[in-house]
Amino acid sequence: MVKICCIGAGYVGGPTMAVIALKCPDIEVAVVDISVPRINAWNSDQLPIYEPGLEDVVKQCRGRNLFFSTDVEKHVCEADIVFVSVNTPTKTRGLGAGKAADLTYWESAARMIADVSKSDKIVVEKSTVPVKTAEAIEKILTHNSKGINFQILSNPEFLAEGTAIEDLFKPDRVLIGGRETEGGQKAIKALKDVYAHWVPEENIITTNLWSAELSKLAANAFLAQRISSVNAMSALCEATGANVTQVSYAVGKDTRIGAKFLNASVGFGGSCFQKDILNLVYICECNGLPEVAEYWKQVIKINDYQKTRFVNRVVASMFNTVSNKKIAILGFAFKKDTGDTRETPAIDVCKGLLGDKARLSIYDPQVTEDQIQRDLSMKKFDWDHPLHLQPMSPTTVKQVGVVWDAYEATKDAHGVCILTEWDEFKTLDFQRIYDNMQKPAFVFDGRNVVDGEKLRQIGFIVYSIGKPLDA
Ligand code: NAD
Repeated sequence: MVKICCIGAGYVGGPTMAVIALKCPDIEVAVVDISVPRINAWNSDQLPIYEPGLEDVVKQCRGRNLFFSTDVEKHVCEADIVFVSVNTPTKTRGLGAGKAADLTYWESAARMIADVSKSDKIVVEKSTVPVKTAEAIEKILTHNSKGINFQILSNPEFLAEGTAIEDLFKPDRVLIGGRETEGGQKAIKALKDVYAHWVPEENIITTNLWSAELSKLAANAFLAQRISSVNAMSALCEATGANVTQVSYAVGKDTRIGAKFLNASVGFGGSCFQKDILNLVYICECNGLPEVAEYWKQVIKINDYQKTRFVNRVVASMFNTVSNKKIAILGFAFKKDTGDTRETPAIDVCKGLLGDKARLSIYDPQVTEDQIQRDLSMKKFDWDHPLHLQPMSPTTVKQVGVVWDAYEATKDAHGVCILTEWDEFKTLDFQRIYDNMQKPAFVFDGRNVVDGEKLRQIGFIVYSIGKPLDA
């Protein structure tokens, strides 16, 4: 029986391995992590992450051929294929701070693999890493072991949070990069055999190592660029009376462009887009390509601008001050169907409003009070002027209340900001909300989820991203 071990039981390691276990009953899969609470949660009824369909998959194979454990060394030692799916955040200090990927976790995983291995292994980069990382990993593995053959593959993950299980069941493509040597090709074949259990052969792409590593960064950069492009258009729509939904529809009808990922919003978030673009910027700079670096930087600048623009619009609309006004924040996660708040635009929007002394009442169906307080108590990392993270003042944190119901959040509020496109926000009773708010009552729709016209008929003053403004 082939044995797989995955180091890192996070948003990627957990769901990807659960799906491999489900689709490959002939393979034993162990997911290991240094975090005891995370592994305990994977072994309980309260999984550590929320993802539609995940619980069902885990329940079907946990204890059969899917195991979650903190015994990292034992499972690595026994495995034929070791996936490494540890976090690769942006460096916060030292060389490349604010841009480069922090490979500390990766390096320590690689050193441990070399240390405990007694048999040949395929080591798979599942984490998103800078192009050429495999070269460094190879050095670490070979210099720290004797007589063991390690084959490194790059197999980046393209799942999107919120649709992870769907994406894993039917991936647009599985990408495997490896060395062009006989050993490299054999390793590619072994990993292909795993995916071939359910992925059609034409959807499994094989490349050299560097193409696979770079493709992941490129894919995220392209996706984020699309969002920044439509968000840049949304600002122009507001200035000219055009409607961004109509513009996106018209533009997306061109089959060369396509309709997906053209929704204007308060900005992109999540743990990947910004970090991967910053990483790309750093790689370009290191390779003497400052113009290319500048091009990708702009994607992040527009994203930051969109969040600032939104905050400014809220404050300007509410008579140039939100001081001591109650603002309901509907949605804090970076997108619907996830409880993940990493780099969510809600953090910057809330901080912007808090900066003008607003009182916030926040509701998100999947995000806990602890998460929100933690996120809001950290100062934003400025990648042009890197500083260490510093906590915000406790008085600012006191301006924040977290509630478990949209009606509670909006009661007595002066304004409502919709920051995540949760489906439940579309069906809220806005007449009831209006009746219980201060007047004039404002709605700022950062995701274009509600029907602005209907809300205006109720009496709201409405601002929707990229739409004509109320007089
Ligand atoms: P995560 O933070 O949720 O999980 C990483 C896990 O690795 C943590 O639980 C951590 O405790 C564990 N870990 C770190 N060092 C370890 C070690 N030495 N031994 C054992 N466990 C260790 O991160 P994630 O969101 O799953 O992302 C992982 C990687 O996948 C990142 O490189 C990310 O860029 C990439 N990625 C993420 C997504 C996404 O949607 N989240 C999608 C595609 C790719």
